[in-house]
Amino acid sequence: MLISKRLSLISPSPTLAITAKAKQMKQEGIDVIGFGAGEPDFDTPIHIKEAAKKALDEGFTKYTPASGIKELKEAVCQKFKNDNNLNFSAEEILVSCGAKHSIFNAILALCNEGDEVILPSPYWVSYPEMIKIAGAKPVILMTTPENNFKITPQKLQETITPKTKLLILNSPSNPTGMVYTRDELLSISNILIERGIFCISDEIYEKIIYDGIKHISIASLEPKIKNLTIVVNGVSKPYSMTGWRIGYAAGLKEIIQAMSNLQSHSTSNPTSISQKAALAALGGPQEPLYNMVAEFNKRRDYIMKRLNSIKEISSLNPKGAFYVFPNVSQIIGRTFKEQIIRDSVSLAEILLTEANVAVVPGSAFGAEGYIRISYATSIENISEGLNRIEEFINKIS
Ligand code: PMP
Repeated sequence: MLISKRLSLISPSPTLAITAKAKQMKQEGIDVIGFGAGEPDFDTPIHIKEAAKKALDEGFTKYTPASGIKELKEAVCQKFKNDNNLNFSAEEILVSCGAKHSIFNAILALCNEGDEVILPSPYWVSYPEMIKIAGAKPVILMTTPENNFKITPQKLQETITPKTKLLILNSPSNPTGMVYTRDELLSISNILIERGIFCISDEIYEKIIYDGIKHISIASLEPKIKNLTIVVNGVSKPYSMTGWRIGYAAGLKEIIQAMSNLQSHSTSNPTSISQKAALAALGGPQEPLYNMVAEFNKRRDYIMKRLNSIKEISSLNPKGAFYVFPNVSQIIGRTFKEQIIRDSVSLAEILLTEANVAVVPGSAFGAEGYIRISYATSIENISEGLNRIEEFINKIS
């Protein structure tokens, strides 16, 4: 066989696939409304770009330490202290090529062949594939809208086996936009401590949060859970820096060291000038972020108003991130122009080709019967996209 057993198990990222198809249609001159985007539609703030230009002009273009420059690690420590009441030293920080890279390194640092990793669904598309690459087994813990797509202590207890090594938590969540409360995290944390299970807490959407809710990092609840948690965050989403590829992880020194060793033999350091840009992002003015979140908030309110008026669709009100995850099961099984809408993939395909609207099928997130709509696009686009979805639904039989 040409491809290794390990990598033949991996499928390409379905969110990137649908965005690519929509882009191609746009290039062909088709007027597609893209609800597939996993990145803010805002420009990187000017002071961040200036910092990168300065780094370039000053010749900061060589290798840096593989785990990131000291100043950036210190800025990350400061961020954890200010925002999350978490005290880390620079040795407990790894800067990597995006939060995705930090998560990948953390899974590889923690998991042995055959270990089980509990993954609440709906989940971000890359987690199961990363777990499989590490030779571990994703154990899917299904959540329901009745529980606001959050895991319950009872379900978590039932899912744990002697092989369970790790739980992956993502709050605010991609794709559901749900946010765990302090009490919910406390009960999860108690179980993890009691059973000695590690946690990767993916907090990349921390800053994109609404309704005055405060993001809580599970690691901040008490010292024992801090020692079991790798906190992952980054600059991609809060500062519209997806292309710059800077994320970071914090946790026990031994684990961070192992992740750093892996990074030193694979990618080496994240891009030097991007590190300087990330430093400006963390330490600079936060107004662009606040303005972006205010705009996302308006869009969320608008999209929810529109979705709530479509009787075939039901969705929870997202509390964070920039996605809505409506239940479309009433549409599945019905027919559009003699094509049967078999499942969420077929719905996404028919919506793209017949209504020129790009959404991501729920099955990509382990949740059949749903679609993900990203509102990282203008109100005008959201309005037009929803007009098209409504027209489409009116034509199905
Ligand atoms: N975690 C989640 C839940 C995400 O949605 C994303 C981006 N789609 C990432 C991590 C990765 O972000 P980065 O660009 O920092 O690699």
